[in-house]
Amino acid sequence: MGLWDGSYGAVEIRRVQPYEALKKYVCPGCHQMIPRGTGHLVAVPADAPDLRRHWHKSCWGRNK
Ligand SMILES: [Zn+2]
Repeated sequence: MGLWDGSYGAVEIRRVQPYEALKKYVCPGCHQMIPRGTGHLVAVPADAPDLRRHWHKSCWGRNK
């Protein structure tokens, strides 16, 4: 909590295209893997960009 509700500034959402997804990530929404080569989203808090997280599109949608 906190990171995604504006406590660290506005959250910028960036789309990651499949060809840009060169690593695998763990989605904080479902704690499942986002495999390499999968289009997804990056959520970047304006005041804490180091804390950005990679999300499944559907998980981010559920989070809001
Ligand atoms: Zn997820």
